[in-house]
Amino acid sequence: MNSIVIVGGGIAGLQAAQILQSKGLDFILIEKSMSIGGRVQSEEFKGYILDHGFQVLQTAYPEVQRSLHFSKCDLSYFESGAYVFNEGKFNPFLYPFKSPFLFFKNINSVGASIFDYLKLALIWLKTLGSVSPLNSNTETTTELIARYRFSEKFQRIFLRPFFAGIYLDETLSPPASLFFFYMKQFLEGNAALPKSGMGAIALDLVAGIPKEKIRTGVGVTEIKGKSLLLNNGEKVDFDHLILATDPRNACELLNVTFPDHAHFSSKTFYFSLNKCLETSMPLIHLMPLNSSPLLHFSCLSQVNTALAPEGKHLVSATSLQMEISELEIKKELARVLELSQSDFTFLKSFSIPYSLFKVGNFKQLIHKANENKIVLAGDYTQFPSLQASLSSGRLAAEKILENS
Ligand SMILES: Cc1cc2nc3c(=O)[nH]c(=O)nc-3n(C[C@H](O)[C@H](O)[C@H](O)COP(=O)(O)OP(=O)(O)OC[C@H]3O[C@@H](n4cnc5c(N)ncnc54)[C@H](O)[C@@H]3O)c2cc1C
Repeated sequence: MNSIVIVGGGIAGLQAAQILQSKGLDFILIEKSMSIGGRVQSEEFKGYILDHGFQVLQTAYPEVQRSLHFSKCDLSYFESGAYVFNEGKFNPFLYPFKSPFLFFKNINSVGASIFDYLKLALIWLKTLGSVSPLNSNTETTTELIARYRFSEKFQRIFLRPFFAGIYLDETLSPPASLFFFYMKQFLEGNAALPKSGMGAIALDLVAGIPKEKIRTGVGVTEIKGKSLLLNNGEKVDFDHLILATDPRNACELLNVTFPDHAHFSSKTFYFSLNKCLETSMPLIHLMPLNSSPLLHFSCLSQVNTALAPEGKHLVSATSLQMEISELEIKKELARVLELSQSDFTFLKSFSIPYSLFKVGNFKQLIHKANENKIVLAGDYTQFPSLQASLSSGRLAAEKILENS
């Protein structure tokens, strides 16, 4: 029997593992942290459930629909849209087909012109068919937004912060094809949070896998021919290897230089609040770019009450400024929500310097892996998202199934 090893217990590695398990293949998964999930983790802190960085599960992602058990994850949903900050106030900007009454009620206060709505309608039409997340077109999202000539105001208060929040990149450098792909997901599905936090996704994937097949707390330090050297001195032989680490570690293990400027960083702060926000709809609050240290914030307990103890609320606030302090974030939240700083109690923050990776920057790594007959999995092999990590894990498992 050929031996199969998966290195990395993030969503991509776990997806590969659950597919191999379902086909009755033997394997071992090696994860260097003490817990599985990689960049998707949740922890309990003083009765609150905190995700390591603000993330949502897009229910329309094809691979999410195929692989996850929504009923087990017990999902709560954001409304489709966002609070936009216009003239010192947050106004709900809602998807008209899902919330027509509220859309028309707020149509004059969100700061979009009739031409912006018409252009959005054109984009909506384009998302009705099949939309490929990546294609040969080299246009960036910024160029696409400029080409459509959305009003400066609408770009500033909605389009740019909304997509900067998805890409974690203020310059909106990712391909325009991704703009259409993500737009389609938001229009056709919902942004959801599992009851016990995003970490539930990893637990869902791992549910059917026997414990002894997953080894945590031990990392691979070297790949030598058909053997792995582990940081506890052990040597593990393999016939087939799925390398499902993040690209930094994959580059290190395959002796490839990690490209400059190929990653995006973010910092998420959590605060407890005794009262519900006045902007009480389950929507993300967007801040216009370059006007605030905040990129966006949400009262997560208004989406999913299980994330905070009874009578308390949980606010998550994300910034792209890695040096920013909780005090500066608290001051800004108090300013824009017209509350007192003392209303917010800081809980914890998560700095994630390598949050997402730039599309198309890992060709050398992919080439080196192919040369060595090592199968790569991970979102960076496609584009940053749970869709891509699940899909890359599936493709990796299928490649092993073909060859074993
Ligand atoms: C702040 C933030 C916000 C995000 N928001 C969203 C969102 O809203 N929606 C969305 O769809 N996606 C979002 N994402 C992206 C999503 O989380 C990732 O696409 C996905 O988690 C990547 O999974 P992965 O398995 O490809 O990689 P990873 O999660 O990076 O997994 C790699 C694993 O390999 C392990 N590893 C590394 N080196 C070794 C070694 N030498 N030996 C053993 N193990 C090793 C690591 O510990 C890790 O567990 C967000 C990510 C972040 C960080």
